Amino acid sequence: MKKFFLMVFCIMFGLFISGCSSGSTKQTNTDAMRQTEKSSTSSENQDEVSRQIFAMDTYMTVTAYGSAAQEAVDKAANEIERLDALLSTGDELSEIAQINQNGGGTLSSDTSYLVERSMELYEDTDGAFDITIYPIMEAWGFTSGNYTIPSEETLQSLLSLTDSSQIKFNKETSTISFEKEGMKIDLGGIAKGYTSARIMDIYRECGIESGIVNLGGNVQVFGTKEDGSQWRVAIQSPEEDGSYLGVLSTQDRAVITSGGYERYFEEDGNTYHHIIDPSTGHPAENGLISVTIISADGTLADGLSTSLFVMGKDKAVEYWNAHSDEFDMILLTEEKTLYVTEGIASQFRSELEFQIIEKGE
Ligand code: ADP
Ligand code: MG
Repeated sequence: MKKFFLMVFCIMFGLFISGCSSGSTKQTNTDAMRQTEKSSTSSENQDEVSRQIFAMDTYMTVTAYGSAAQEAVDKAANEIERLDALLSTGDELSEIAQINQNGGGTLSSDTSYLVERSMELYEDTDGAFDITIYPIMEAWGFTSGNYTIPSEETLQSLLSLTDSSQIKFNKETSTISFEKEGMKIDLGGIAKGYTSARIMDIYRECGIESGIVNLGGNVQVFGTKEDGSQWRVAIQSPEEDGSYLGVLSTQDRAVITSGGYERYFEEDGNTYHHIIDPSTGHPAENGLISVTIISADGTLADGLSTSLFVMGKDKAVEYWNAHSDEFDMILLTEEKTLYVTEGIASQFRSELEFQIIEKGE
C-alpha cells in the first residue's frame, strides 16, 4: 500500500519552495513542514505569518501578509478545523457521518451550501460529479485504507445507490434524505476547495490584501504578492521527481489539481486510484492523468477538477467551451500531451510543449 501526499503545486519561487516537496511520504513531508516552519519564523519578511496544519487527511499551509496577518491565519486555522470536523466522513461524530448513518437529517449552512453546489455539478456534468459515490469508495477501501478490489457483482449492486438524483434536498429547510436505503454522501471532491474559498472570505474580512493557502495541493491565492506582482503557482507533475508541468502567474484564483497519482493502491501490477467514474464504479480511466482548474470560485474549481478528470479530454473541452467565463484548465493526457485553455495561456510558462485550447474547438 502506498499513500503519497503529492500535495504540492504551490512552489512560490524562493518564498514557498521549502514547503513544497512533492512525491514524498508522510514522514518526509512532516520533515519538510518542520523546515518550513523554521524558515517562516526566521523569515526576513516581518509581515508574513504562515501556519501548517494537518487536516482533511493532508498537510495544509496558510499564509497571510500585513498587520492583520496573525489574526487572519489563526482564524483560517480555526476554520479548517471546524470544517474538517463537520465534513469528515471518517469521523463518526461529523455532520456528514451522522447524515449517512441516519439516512438524512438537517444540515448546517456550510453542508447545505455544499450539497446544493454538488447537486448542481451533478446536473451540469451529466453525473460525472456524484457525491453519492461513498458506498463505492468504501468498497474499494479508500475510506479505511484497507484497499481491496471489489467484485463486479458488489460494484453493480452499489451502483444502484450511486445516484444523486435520488437525494431529496430541501434548500429552504436545509433537510436531506435519501430515496434508497444505504445511500451515503462524500464531499471529499469539493470540501478542500470550499475550505480555501472560506479562507479567502476570512482574509477579506480581516482586511488582508495578500495571502495564499495550500491545502494539500489545492492552492488559492488572495490578491497579489505584497510587492504587487502576481503569485507564481507551480503545477505539479505526476512524476515523482519533484518536477512540475509549468508555472502559472495569477492573482485572486484557486488553482486546483486532481490526478489519479494522488491517492492510489497497487495490486497485481495494476494501480487503482481514488477518483471514481460513477458510471462504472471503477477508478476513472478516460485518458487524463491530471486536471488543473483555475477559477475565482474555489468550490467550483475543486468540484470541476474531479468532474473533468472523470469526463476525459473531449468532454472536458466541451464543458469548458460552455463555461469558459467561469474557469480555465490545464490537462495532461496519458500520451503526455499538455493542453492549456486560452484564458490563461499567456500566463502559463512551461519547459514542456503545450497546446492551447481555443474556444469553439
Ligand atoms: P483530492 O481530494 O485528492 O485533492 P479530488 O478533489 O479529485 O482529489 O477528490 C477526490 C475525492 O472525491 C475522493 O477521495 C472521493 O472522496 C471523492 N470522489 C471520488 N470520485 C468522485 C466523483 N465521481 N464525484 C464526486 N466525488 C468523488
Ligand atoms: Mg476535486
